[in-house]
Amino acid sequence: MSRIKDILFTLKRYNYKRPFCIAYGFVTETENIEIEIITESGVSGYGESAPSFRISGETTEMLLALQPKIREMILNKDVKNYRLIFDITDRLISSPSLKAGVQFAVIDAFCKEGGIGVWEFFGGVKDEIETDRTVSVRPVEERINEALEIYREGFRVIKIKVGENLEEDLVVICEVYSKTRGCRYIVDVNGNYTPKEAVYFVKRLYSSGVDISVFEQPVNRYDIEGLKYVRFNSPFPVCADESVKTRYDALRLIKEEAVDMFNIKLMKSGISDAIAIVELAKTANIRLMIGCVSESSLGINQSVQLACGIGCFDFCDLDSHLMLEEDSFRGTFKQVGSKMIVE
Ligand code: MN
Repeated sequence: MSRIKDILFTLKRYNYKRPFCIAYGFVTETENIEIEIITESGVSGYGESAPSFRISGETTEMLLALQPKIREMILNKDVKNYRLIFDITDRLISSPSLKAGVQFAVIDAFCKEGGIGVWEFFGGVKDEIETDRTVSVRPVEERINEALEIYREGFRVIKIKVGENLEEDLVVICEVYSKTRGCRYIVDVNGNYTPKEAVYFVKRLYSSGVDISVFEQPVNRYDIEGLKYVRFNSPFPVCADESVKTRYDALRLIKEEAVDMFNIKLMKSGISDAIAIVELAKTANIRLMIGCVSESSLGINQSVQLACGIGCFDFCDLDSHLMLEEDSFRGTFKQVGSKMIVE
């Protein structure tokens, strides 16, 4: 029997191995919520919610306070009717990371009841993906050294956070590019350039002979016109991140022809909107990347299962667990260098 009999929330704290900095400030620790869904037959499904105040305005206090509401919404529902549970939890419009953790825990319980892997449930397309690693915003020399360290560790997709100082950003990328050949590069502005700065920036890179694969969220999330301006004036693919949270955001960006790519994050969209965005993107010839917020291995597992199962992500930026100190590894995938393998 697979009706939901209990839903448990546990607050978890993780320290970063070293402070992680982007154009808005830096973090040294994170608080996530572990979600356990227990069915009548005693099966436990697990999910993780990693709220981001910057991206979605969520805090763990808010999410913990929603526990009684979640119980009211889905207690005694059958995990076999997961689509019904998706529709009900789609009402969590101001707590998308909670929606993600709850929806994943339901799928996890459903798959355990049925004896299949979650990646198989999502489609079983691939049994392996490759993640990048991220260089955060620091002084120039530190950023170059961090990139070289990532390269020496065997990662071949390097994500570089920029947006605080355009001239320094150019120096960092040109240096990293010349010292790490054979890599693909994702450059993430986190919305911190103006449209004109963004175009100036990519033109400088292009004329320096640098080739980047993804130019992510160059301008403010609400500046759809600005994104479109950058897209049509950039030699490199422009990707929306903060601008695309729900399927409705995706639809609008497609209609406006504003970007070449979407960065899907479960913590912005939950499972239901992530799947909807994938289908919209495929229909509109938009390329896809999957990213993360501050998930531990438990939460990153959610994105690994989805990315392997759906199999259509050109880039996987699933490295937050590699930055956190954890007592034990909680994923059901194997991490072998940059590879993430499901079984
Ligand atoms: Mn981003």
